[in-house]
Amino acid sequence: MASNYAQAVRKGTLSAGRLLRELGVKEQIEQSGGAINIFAAISALDVPLLFRPLDGLLGAFLNFPTRGILVTTQRPLSIQRFTAAHELGHCMLDHKPSLDDENILRRMVVNEQPTQDLQEVEADGFATAFLLPKWLIANHMKRHGITIPHLRRPNVIYQLSLRLGVSYEAFCWTLVRYRMIEGKQARELLLTPRRAVKEALLEGHRPTNYRGDVWLLTERDAGSRIDGSRNDLFILKLTEHSNGGYLWNIDELRDSGFAVVRDEVAEVETESIGDPGVRRVTAQPPQDYRGRLVLDEVRPWDSDQVLTRLELDFDFTGPEEEGLSRIERRERLMLEAV
Ligand SMILES: [Zn+2]
Repeated sequence: MASNYAQAVRKGTLSAGRLLRELGVKEQIEQSGGAINIFAAISALDVPLLFRPLDGLLGAFLNFPTRGILVTTQRPLSIQRFTAAHELGHCMLDHKPSLDDENILRRMVVNEQPTQDLQEVEADGFATAFLLPKWLIANHMKRHGITIPHLRRPNVIYQLSLRLGVSYEAFCWTLVRYRMIEGKQARELLLTPRRAVKEALLEGHRPTNYRGDVWLLTERDAGSRIDGSRNDLFILKLTEHSNGGYLWNIDELRDSGFAVVRDEVAEVETESIGDPGVRRVTAQPPQDYRGRLVLDEVRPWDSDQVLTRLELDFDFTGPEEEGLSRIERRERLMLEAV
């Protein structure tokens, strides 16, 4: 066990970095994009993981009679992921059993009175370094053309946090920890209600509730994994070369069962005539959708000539439900099928 706060953070961080390397996570993410799959990591390590409605707790680490992890079913996927990473930290660092409540989220806040429980500090350090290593944030920023000054905008923070699979709050405070923004900036970002960010994105479309997330997807997300949840909506914002007769084939979306709730073309304001426009399509995935969506930009009279193809691996089956994680269920089904 570490003997002071800084040492405890460092110990957790080093352990997470080691595990990410052992599991080859960086190489996987460079191919498929998206967030770090904490549940796949736990499954790969053969640590039993169960989801349960937990009374007043977010998660627990048990080591008797054997080690195992419990995570609540009553919170969104981002919190389930963070809790699972914290409990995996306890497991990897050979900690004593731990029952974890909302304090694991409160402790994210930088410059608050730190806890004296160094076992918890180690597990927190592990969770942050495992889910949000610096290289992963850098990868996503590069892919989306985001630089440090952009990190002042709530919408940028929100879209990045979705792709990283962490809560808006956790992401803000991690950026402070990494000295990419200041504490004051984080507090300002947290003043913007998430609902306001979603409303601005939806431009007048009113979903039944604002619990789900709103993904703004562009060509920069091509080939990427999008791990969402059941109530999520998404907006495709795509350059459309209608001047050359090319249109995005939105029927491909409808054929896959998506409800298109809005579809419009915005002209790009420039001096010259015939510049591409921007197609903006708001859609709702079918219930429990998981699969690859392929959209083509084609001339309607010649659909074989594809100008641009957008492929996205969608998974809108979150959050995790009672029992085993989704990845473990799928792995077991595959084994049974062999
Ligand atoms: Zn803990």
